Amino acid sequence: MIATNAAERNLANITKHKPVPITMAYGDGIGPEIMEATLRIIQAAGAALDIETIEIGEKVYLNGNSAGIDPSAWDSLRRTKVFLKAPITTPQGGGFKSLNVTTRKVLGLYANVRPCVSYHPFVKTKHPIMDVVIVRENEEDLYAGIEHQQTDEVVQCLKLMSRPGTEKIIRYAFEYAKAYGRKKVTCFSKDNIMKMTDGMFHKIFDEVGAEYPELEKEHWIVDIGAAKLADTPEAFDVIVMPNLYGDILSDVAAQITGSVGLAGSANIGDGFAMFEAIHGSAPRIAGQNKANPSGLLLGAVQMLVHIGQGDVAERVQNAWLKTLEDGVHTYDIYKEGTSKERLGTKEFADAVIARLGQKPEQLKPVDYSKSNGNFKITLKERPAVEKKLVGVDVFLHWKERDANKLGEALKNIQVGTLKMSMITNRGTKVYPDGFPETFCTDHWRVRFKCEGEMCNSYQAVISLLGEIHKAGYDIIKTENLYKLDGENGFTAAQGQ
Ligand code: NAD
Repeated sequence: MIATNAAERNLANITKHKPVPITMAYGDGIGPEIMEATLRIIQAAGAALDIETIEIGEKVYLNGNSAGIDPSAWDSLRRTKVFLKAPITTPQGGGFKSLNVTTRKVLGLYANVRPCVSYHPFVKTKHPIMDVVIVRENEEDLYAGIEHQQTDEVVQCLKLMSRPGTEKIIRYAFEYAKAYGRKKVTCFSKDNIMKMTDGMFHKIFDEVGAEYPELEKEHWIVDIGAAKLADTPEAFDVIVMPNLYGDILSDVAAQITGSVGLAGSANIGDGFAMFEAIHGSAPRIAGQNKANPSGLLLGAVQMLVHIGQGDVAERVQNAWLKTLEDGVHTYDIYKEGTSKERLGTKEFADAVIARLGQKPEQLKPVDYSKSNGNFKITLKERPAVEKKLVGVDVFLHWKERDANKLGEALKNIQVGTLKMSMITNRGTKVYPDGFPETFCTDHWRVRFKCEGEMCNSYQAVISLLGEIHKAGYDIIKTENLYKLDGENGFTAAQGQ
């Protein structure tokens, strides 16, 4: 009763929004309980939503749909363009595709935004001061899922990064920082090793960053950056990074705030957005009214800002902060000494509703009055680059481990001006003048370059491949070597 009265009192003074259509799924495991709690809280706070419910997850997978989402659900998503999603259970065994990866890719959700905040002294953490937002690129990098076994011994996963994809995520990070009143954007990359892929990420960060003089900018190599984040998270504000580093480090960042169960996550695209908790369906505690709904609730807060109901988002999050501060906790963050009450999912939701309209006294209240989460990213037009073929890397499956023998045989194969310049094994130069100590696998790269740099045509490459094949070698793939606007579009070998 108290909750309803408090909610009613609170609703009397707030802006009435026009209902916004959203698509919602209850998910599996603890999903239905935490979704119900979340919806009750945000609706009591005045969220104006027109909710369409769809079926996703275990039941759909087990009905023979390998994507885990009912085909009719896409119609709803196309209509509403906003998805509030509870966690799902991915059935064990092969053949089931990750619903999250499918949704991100199909709907073009290129930015994954995960705010990671510590709530000291109310939630136990080693890092009392932490308020970091990880902006992770969500579609590219090693997650393209293009993998091949090329020889008995060697498998490959392609790390694909595009200029538009990189520019989009970096612009998103800067626009996000501006829209949410943040001060600094940090970039993590490994461009000391991956000079072309991560090198492009860092370069575009510098280029785009120059357009935001009001924001502080810095770059860290991801390994030492990750160590610094785990040790001194207060040194960071917004951090933007490629997909794989972002996947790993956003979990680390969420965990060191005190609990992975407290973080929400937004997946943003040009026309669509999906909001969720970062944790899974926790099947072991499902149906017991025990789960903490906070992660999904904070995902819903991100959604409210995104759909222009920032005042509602603010009211929800401030009431939730006050609840934490009052020591009213679910079992996962309950601690003798700091906590005062240990509540179930439903009762915790009631406690938040009862505090709607209140602000925390010790924790920092949120203010979304100036935030607009729905900014548009426009990419810069670029002139087309001039691309010239200057050679080819031919990859061979060859079982003998003798680099000199291979080099002596292949140096005689020449087509026009195209001739062998070196051989590498796992990226290390082994011919000419290799080290006898270098271990070689059955996967060889033979670099052929054109004299005077320019090949006359691709026909030379085709003829070269014919000659190599005739000589009895097993060609597993090729990579063309280009110069783009006069710059090498390929790296040198290790040891070259
Ligand atoms: P999990 O996140 O479900 O659980 C990890 C641990 O955290 C468990 O001990 C669990 O009890 C606890 N926990 C998680 N959320 C909690 C909450 N809200 N309140 C209290 N405790 C909570 O991870 P898992 O056990 O590795 O995965 C379970 C299932 O969830 C798997 O089928 C997995 O594929 C799926 N999953 C789904 C998503 C998603 O839908 N976005 C994400 C991750 C995992």
